[in-house]
Amino acid sequence: MTSRLNNLALFHQKLASANRILAICGAGLSAASGLPTFRGAGGLWRNYEATDLATPEAFAEDPGLVWLFYAYRRHMALQVQPNAGHYALAELAKKNPNVLCLTQNVDNLSPRAGHPPSQLRTLHGSLFTLKCSSPRCDYVDPNNTADPLCPALAPASVNPPDPSQPAKIPLLDPSHPLPAIPPSSLPQCPRCQESGKSSLLRPGVVWFGESLDSNMLEEVDEWIDQAPIDMVLVVGTSSVVWPAAGYAERARTKGVTSVVTVNKEVEKRMWRGREDLAFQGGAEEWLGRMLEPVIGRVPEAGADVEGGTE
Ligand SMILES: [Zn+2]
Repeated sequence: MTSRLNNLALFHQKLASANRILAICGAGLSAASGLPTFRGAGGLWRNYEATDLATPEAFAEDPGLVWLFYAYRRHMALQVQPNAGHYALAELAKKNPNVLCLTQNVDNLSPRAGHPPSQLRTLHGSLFTLKCSSPRCDYVDPNNTADPLCPALAPASVNPPDPSQPAKIPLLDPSHPLPAIPPSSLPQCPRCQESGKSSLLRPGVVWFGESLDSNMLEEVDEWIDQAPIDMVLVVGTSSVVWPAAGYAERARTKGVTSVVTVNKEVEKRMWRGREDLAFQGGAEEWLGRMLEPVIGRVPEAGADVEGGTE
């Protein structure tokens, strides 16, 4: 029996006849870039559960604290580079206009790897989108990479006063007390200010208890319904949990579809469909080799491609 695990030759056969490809990416895609994911055991930022800070209630109660957490995450995301996995997916999308990539990552690494924006949907938003926190205002600043974002949030990124010391991130050091930041020192919505009503800007990410962008989901649904999907690539997340599982099952109902998982952890039910395959390991280690027949050799991450500048 042909192995469905780590079988590059079989994958290349399927890829040769795959036209419409849906890729669904999770935290595992960015893991090799060195970003903390704040999930599972050890998902702590200082002494806070990350999941306790990523809520509208936490922002309403202490916006300064929540902003410090996001200022830190913005700073970290700006310090790292896209990896070979991001570049491989970006190249696949450039080579094939019938590729759509859905990512759960908010770190902006896929756009920085040159992924065409029209072929990328950031399901959970972006650390670098700012939006008004007022439900009555639709102000959005879609690509703000200022670091620090404002003077009050500088502790997330400032270097120590002694330049002979290596740069430190005080917010990572629990012995360094967190400053209390009054709302008036946080980023304010320019549109609300114009109308004389001050509202805070907030990170443009989907918090726990919030819905995903309904326009975005509709666009994805339309794309799925347009024509049969030949392949679903599930990268850095599990194809048997939501949302990848839901999209994979919907794609299957449209015709014969291979669901191909690339993840550190694989399990047999990931290749329960007749055409399914799985690759065990990091996206950075597999995607380049998997997609080489379409994209050619991808340069080493950060080597030839302008990463990190927009
Ligand atoms: Zn506003």
